[in-house]
Order: sequence, then C-alpha cells, then structure tokens
Amino acid sequence: MVKGTTSFGKRGRGKTHIRCRRCGRHSYNVAKGYCAHCGFGRSKRIRNYSWKNKKPVTRLRLPAK
Ligand SMILES: [Zn+2]
Repeated sequence: MVKGTTSFGKRGRGKTHIRCRRCGRHSYNVAKGYCAHCGFGRSKRIRNYSWKNKKPVTRLRLPAK
C-alpha cells in the first residue's frame, strides 16, 4: 500500500527545493541552503562533474582480460 493512492496524501506538504537564484532550476534545497544542480550556497564555483556528459567513442578495443 505505497506508491499509489494511499501515498498520494503525503504529497504537497512543505517544499524541499525552490527555484535556484543562480541556475534557475528548481533545485535549491531550502533546508540545506544550497542548490543540488549548480551548488549555489555550497561552493563559489558552479557544480560540474566529468560524468555529466557521455564520453565520446574512442574507437579503441578494450584490452582482453
Ligand atoms: Zn542552482
């Protein structure tokens, strides 16, 4: 009795994320005070990770084990 009709009553109370002032996404965590998307309020630099983008195909065969 979760995931469906019964749990829908728990929705819509309080808000975890609001619109971020820096990136504009709805990812600014009100309680924690930082943005989950760009890291605003946590770090001065914009949050960025290498795994964000899919790596280009190298056309090299992986060595056999
Ligand atoms: Zn942000």
